[in-house]
Amino acid sequence: PEVAAKIAAGEVVERPANAAKELIENSLDAGATEIRVEIREGGRRLLRVTDNGHGIPADEAELAFQRHATSKLHTAEDLSHIATFGFRGEALYSIAAVSHVTLTTRHRDEPFGVQVRVEGGQIVGRGRAGSPVGTVVSVEHLFYNVPARQKFLRKAATEAGHIANLVQRYALAHPDRRFSLVNDGRLVFQSNGNGDPFDVLAKVYGLENARQMVSLLPGDGTSPPGLDVAQDVSFMAEELPGAEAAGANPEESPVRVTGYTSLPSLTRANRSHIDIFVNRRYVEDRSLVHAVVQAYHTLLPVGRYPLAVIFVEVAPELVDVNVHPQKTQVRFVEERRIFSAVQKATRQAILRHAA
Ligand code: ADP
Ligand code: MG
Repeated sequence: PEVAAKIAAGEVVERPANAAKELIENSLDAGATEIRVEIREGGRRLLRVTDNGHGIPADEAELAFQRHATSKLHTAEDLSHIATFGFRGEALYSIAAVSHVTLTTRHRDEPFGVQVRVEGGQIVGRGRAGSPVGTVVSVEHLFYNVPARQKFLRKAATEAGHIANLVQRYALAHPDRRFSLVNDGRLVFQSNGNGDPFDVLAKVYGLENARQMVSLLPGDGTSPPGLDVAQDVSFMAEELPGAEAAGANPEESPVRVTGYTSLPSLTRANRSHIDIFVNRRYVEDRSLVHAVVQAYHTLLPVGRYPLAVIFVEVAPELVDVNVHPQKTQVRFVEERRIFSAVQKATRQAILRHAA
């Protein structure tokens, strides 16, 4: 089991930022409005995520480290299927297999908290803890027992940079939650959690005037979705026999595209500031990044790119998040419909404001 755990860990956790992503998503799942990420030495010495979510009941704290019963990985043969089955329910288990983890948590309905310590997958300590409602997961000495993985890590500043990008992206996706990042004892980023996306945009992109970014929505960003392409579906469905084969009913599954994109006056020299989220999870999707760039066709000088944060909301059955164990890549049942929805929403937003 220890070997399997380490293999699983290697797939889920390639670098500290992957572990950070899992911990942040757990905090979001727990309804936290304050999420604080602290790192030392790029997250290798320490990666700690503190949240004010609902916490874990004392009698379930140890279970959080167990591989879920639904795990598909039972035999060595199954290892070849890792990439397709994914790792839901295995994040803490995998992280704990390759580090020292201290979980301190108090559930909102309980009078006291509990602490569990795990080293290399083994529970080495447990007990009561004085703790506010919420959860603290401290990951220390990541990859201490995986020398091969250690070699692939970049220098601390590079790993810290990946974590900073991650925290900022999640802050963009959740303007109503306060994210903080403390690197080697210094507060290097904080969103204010007041719900105003333009505040976060200004902070993340270092903009003096966040109004150079425009909403994909005609309104103020809080009203209904910018583009709901359900009405285009019958036409698109004809071109997409694959959707039916996969058991999806496109007509019942609108695609919503919202977000923020820059006016043509605000550009960068590369595409790294075009962030795509699917159902509020950050994903790497070159195709959708390309859809955004295409929306600026003829509007930008050669070699210049917009800044954009794009949220695609799609029925869960139309998106496969398990293509990649780290869940940063997704596959859509109706790739082209989603591509054109993103392109259209972005184009409309630019033209509306450029007029
Ligand atoms: P998954 O999130 O896919 O269920 P994880 O290994 O990431 O698997 O977490 C295991 C479980 O531990 C979660 O289902 C949740 O019940 C609990 N958990 C982990 N982190 C937190 C947190 N920050 N707040 C509340 N519960 C948590
Ligand atoms: Mg999780």
